[in-house]
Amino acid sequence: MAKVKYKFNPHTLKFDVISHPLRKKIANIAIHLFVNLTLAATLVYIYSIFLDTPKEKNIKREIENTIVKYELFQRKINEKVLLVKEFQKRDNNIYRAIFEADTIPASQKEGGYGGVNRYKSFEKFEHANLFIKTFTLFDQLNWQVYLQSKSFDEVIDLARNKEKMTHCIPAIQPVSLTTISAHFGFRSDPFTHHLKMHYGIDFSGSIGTPVHATGEGVVVSAEFSFTGYGKEVVIDHGFGYKTRYAHLSKIEVQAGDKIIRGQVIGLLGNSGRSTGPHLHYEVMLRNSAIDPLNYFNDLTSEDYDDMVKFATVGKTEHDTLD
Ligand SMILES: [Zn+2]
Repeated sequence: MAKVKYKFNPHTLKFDVISHPLRKKIANIAIHLFVNLTLAATLVYIYSIFLDTPKEKNIKREIENTIVKYELFQRKINEKVLLVKEFQKRDNNIYRAIFEADTIPASQKEGGYGGVNRYKSFEKFEHANLFIKTFTLFDQLNWQVYLQSKSFDEVIDLARNKEKMTHCIPAIQPVSLTTISAHFGFRSDPFTHHLKMHYGIDFSGSIGTPVHATGEGVVVSAEFSFTGYGKEVVIDHGFGYKTRYAHLSKIEVQAGDKIIRGQVIGLLGNSGRSTGPHLHYEVMLRNSAIDPLNYFNDLTSEDYDDMVKFATVGKTEHDTLD
């Protein structure tokens, strides 16, 4: 209710009611309204800065919970990444080592989505870094799990082939009971006397000594080579292995022939660049020569003779059938 104001009238000695013109009244009301509204707006603004509404409080709590969940998720992903790394280590150091398979290159393991910013749309969010880091970690984990599963498929195949592998990989001496006259490694070249890499082992022996295939495989070449190796036979054993038998006096197989371990493939000789009768024997793994000495399994002379006999019988039978 509006206050009624009075003013003392000295002439009438009475209090007269003070009356304002209407315009002034409206102006007064407008001023009051403006001041009150400004004050109210300021209070609401200050309140909103320092105090949240219940709805805002709920949203903030939700956001905090989500951040905590994401951080927990990241930690779980990291635990799984460590687990996959452990699988990779076991895969490379044990399974692949057993089957002599190549290890997975580190670059491939880390890769996946290199260079592509898949989460550009997240950048506008307040917690963009958290989202991007989490999703990137998750992608990397998925990629590594995928690679590892493919790798295990390969290892399973290798395990299935293990039996075949044991027949194929070079595992014996190509000539029986002879002496090694030159080892794998650097040596003085018998012709130039310069230091030169010798990519195989030389077995001295008399011309005509049978030369045996050291593992199962297919003959890839059986001819006179002008590289200095003279009459030579090269066998592909699969699994990345090849063997070379050089300076032969006679070749007894042809390119394309399937060979079993112990089978006679030629006779020791002195053909090509050679200073005396010997067999030059090489083992190559993925086209790089390696020391054949690591590929002679311990065999007694009886075992060796049996194996050679079996190989000879096998070949005869095979020829008869053809
Ligand atoms: Zn040699």
